[in-house]
Amino acid sequence: MIPLVQPYLAPSQEMMPEIEKILYSGYIAEGETVYQFEKELGKFIGNPKVLALQSGTAALHIVLTILNIGKGDEVISTPMTAEPTNTTIALTGAKIVWADVDPNTGLLKPESVREKITKKTKAVMLVHYAGMVCDMERFHEISEETGIPIIEDSAHCFGGKYNEKMIGANSRFTCYSFQAIKQMTTVDGGAIAFQREEDMAEARKLRWFGLDKKVPRLQNDITRAGFKYGMNNVTAAIGRVQLRHMPEILGRYKENGRFYDKALKGADGITLVPYYNQTEPSYWLYTMKVKRRDDFCRKMEENGVITSPLHHRNDTHSVFAESKCKLPGMDEWYGSFVHIPCGWWVNDESREKIVKVIRQGW
Ligand SMILES: *Cc1c(COP(=O)(O)O)cnc(C)c1O
Repeated sequence: MIPLVQPYLAPSQEMMPEIEKILYSGYIAEGETVYQFEKELGKFIGNPKVLALQSGTAALHIVLTILNIGKGDEVISTPMTAEPTNTTIALTGAKIVWADVDPNTGLLKPESVREKITKKTKAVMLVHYAGMVCDMERFHEISEETGIPIIEDSAHCFGGKYNEKMIGANSRFTCYSFQAIKQMTTVDGGAIAFQREEDMAEARKLRWFGLDKKVPRLQNDITRAGFKYGMNNVTAAIGRVQLRHMPEILGRYKENGRFYDKALKGADGITLVPYYNQTEPSYWLYTMKVKRRDDFCRKMEENGVITSPLHHRNDTHSVFAESKCKLPGMDEWYGSFVHIPCGWWVNDESREKIVKVIRQGW
């Protein structure tokens, strides 16, 4: 079976000595290895203002906390995402306001976001779902006009680009996840990329109870309670090794994605997803719309290929009941989108087979 997702881990002879060194170094908590990882990650995405954290969920929670989002506030978000995007908003006490998605891409529609803005709107949460990049040109316009900050949930889009720049260098906040099935895993982990020094300084305290690591413990004064969300030296050591392989690994996702873009053009029963101006997907999951999806997935499985829509539209969860509203674009998209395997484990032979099976029809 060709799986839809699979964790990439660097070769053991390269990884294990690094893990072992840190494990028995006497310093396994947040320390130099984490700061090294942050430097290297910053270099990789082209934005040095990066903090490494325990998870993508922790990253989102810290960002919402920096923005003082809570009861009485509204955050505009998308139902087309993994649940942590929205459970973290719910945790703050703020109301989630769903905007509709573009039925051609499944990504938030700028016009719908604009319509949903009220005096209570404190942030717009954008998700580069499955690695497709949102219409950033339009969203930056909205943000500049209204002063409402954008949070990019880039858990699916490590390596994606906007305007030739890596995702992570474009908005006030970008959150990453290094969880098991994301493009780069540190087993578990996450990060925030910032535009402003002061946001980063605040996040640095919030990741460690509210304490300032640069001030001696006895002289520290917590002015705001924080979390325990930092990364540790062990997972950072894994991240440092993983990062060395990312140009090749992320490149393979993109190569496969571009291959499908060409090879599936015009195939019967399929509508390919258009990409917005100046954007380059990370192709975490190759996404398209298909007719008779259940039949499609069955046929693929019979031929040894796992395909699936993978994510459950978030607006149907009971916990978000008060946000319920009509989303015709989402209804249209949700009934027909599907993902096919696109990652580093899909070799030339596999991707050709996948295209061949699809072209046979279902
Ligand atoms: C995985 C994921 C997260 C959360 O990341 P964790 O590292 O698992 O906490 C957030 N948003 C999206 C869209 C995700 O897919």
